[in-house]
Amino acid sequence: MRKTYVIGNWKMNGSKAANKALLDGLKAAVPAARAGVEIAVCPTFVYLDSVVAQVAGSPIGVGSQDVSEYDKGAYTGEVPVSQLKDIGATYAIIGHSERRSLFGETDEWVAKKTVAALAGGLVPVVCIGELEAEREGGLTEKVLATQLDAVLAAIPAPVPGSIVIAYEPVWAIGTGKSATPEMAQETHAFIRNYLKKGGEEFAAKTAILYGGSVKANNAAGLFAKADIDGGLVGGASLIVEEFAGIYNAAA
Ligand code: PEP
Repeated sequence: MRKTYVIGNWKMNGSKAANKALLDGLKAAVPAARAGVEIAVCPTFVYLDSVVAQVAGSPIGVGSQDVSEYDKGAYTGEVPVSQLKDIGATYAIIGHSERRSLFGETDEWVAKKTVAALAGGLVPVVCIGELEAEREGGLTEKVLATQLDAVLAAIPAPVPGSIVIAYEPVWAIGTGKSATPEMAQETHAFIRNYLKKGGEEFAAKTAILYGGSVKANNAAGLFAKADIDGGLVGGASLIVEEFAGIYNAAA
C-alpha cells in the first residue's frame, strides 16, 4: 500500500562530466520502472535542470537538496518551489542534518519549507534524526517527537501520502556505522505511531525512509523491515553499482 523510495543525495558533489557518467551508468542499470518503487537523485541546484533533461524517459526522478520557504522576491541566494517545479523536479529534501547542524535550520524553519513544498506541489522528504549523544542519553524518541511536532503543527490536516519522512540517525550519516535493521525498525515503528497525530491514514500511508550508511550490501536487510519504506542514500548514491544495488534491494 505504501511506495518504496530510493533517493540519492549527491550533497555538494558532481560536475557536468561526473554527472553524465553517473547518470549514463544508472540509466543502463535501471532501464525500466518497477511497480511500487521510486528512484530519484538530488544534485546541487546548478545541475538540476541538466539532470532532469538527462533522465527524461527513464524511471529516475529528480529532487533538490533544499528549498526556500518563500515564493519569490528579495531573498538573494534562495530557490523557490515554483522554480523547482518549473524545471521538472519532483522532490525536495528538507531539514537534512547537515543543514540543521551546519546552517542553523530549526524545526520551525523545516516546517515552513515543508508547507511551501506541499503548497507548490513538490514531495517534501523531511529529514529527522538524533545525535549520537542523544541516543546514548535515551533521548531519541523525545528528539524525533519534537522534530515531528513542528511539521505536524504546521500541517494540521496532512494529506495521506503527501509527505515522505527520512529517519537519519546523525551518527550513521557518512560514518559507515549503519543502524542495524532491528534498531532502525524499532525507531521507524515509533515514528509511524507518532504520525498518527496527523491521522491513522496519514500514518499508514507515509513512507518512512532510513538514511545513514545504506549500501548495496545492507539495503535488503533494512528494507525487509515492516516500517522501512526505502532509503535516503548519500555516499553510495555516487557509485552506479552501489545505488543500483540498493534500488534492486527495494521490494
Ligand atoms: C545522507 O546524506 O542523507 C546520508 C544518509 O549519507 P550516507 O548514506 O553517506 O550516510
